[in-house]
Amino acid sequence: QLQVQGLCKAWGESRVVSELNFSIEPGEFVALLGPSGCGKSTTLKMIAGLEEPTSGVISLNDRDITHLAPGKRGLAMVFQSYALFPHLSVAENILFGLKARRVAADECQRRLKQVAELVDLGAHLNKKPGQLSGGQCQRVALARAIVAQAPLCLMDEPLSNLDAKLRNEMRAELRALQQRLGMTVLYVTHDQVEAMSMADRILLLNKGELAQEGTPEALYNRPENTFVARFIGNPP
Ligand code: ATP
Ligand code: MG
Repeated sequence: QLQVQGLCKAWGESRVVSELNFSIEPGEFVALLGPSGCGKSTTLKMIAGLEEPTSGVISLNDRDITHLAPGKRGLAMVFQSYALFPHLSVAENILFGLKARRVAADECQRRLKQVAELVDLGAHLNKKPGQLSGGQCQRVALARAIVAQAPLCLMDEPLSNLDAKLRNEMRAELRALQQRLGMTVLYVTHDQVEAMSMADRILLLNKGELAQEGTPEALYNRPENTFVARFIGNPP
């Protein structure tokens, strides 16, 4: 379980994240949604340990991780740019993190086989990223996050540089995979349709503050203010 309490981030005088409070339960798919510049990526980076909070506490399974080094948090991450290593094969890319953590070779192979099947990359394991399509590269990035078997997976607009058709397919695939594996996901997007169609729960941010939190259905039918109603697309 992830818990975020009173999380703030300021760059000099400007506050980009203000007093955020929320938690995520195991197995939940939660979307962090909001317009460009509202502080979504900054929030994700603070949880990942890539950005130091100005104040607030982040804990994972009752352990305070606020000031822990990124590598020691045990989280998996998927970014918009897949950040694959071009000189390594698909298999080596997928296993990169496990090898760095010195997971035994036979365990690596076992997990590789399993995850390759899940994301349908079995036929491409020996190729280099340059020989793959955008959607296939995205699945490699997902596979790399899945093999880590982390208690929480952070995703920042992971589908945003795919074309519309592929993005739609990948939304459904990713959601199905998350449910099948019981993954816990915090998913950043600025796209309300994406959040509405994928998430169990939405955290809607406006200028660094939580405008409303709830199920897609609740935000749509019972918006608590005009920002929510306008952003979700159901103004009175
Ligand atoms: P997008 O949907 O465009 O990715 P976002 O919600 O992810 O937007 P952030 O990247 O979190 O937004 O940025 C929030 C605000 O913080 C923006 O106004 C941005 O200019 C500012 N910001 C982000 N990083 C820095 C930095 N290193 N130094 C100063 N300001 C920054
Ligand atoms: Mg961002």
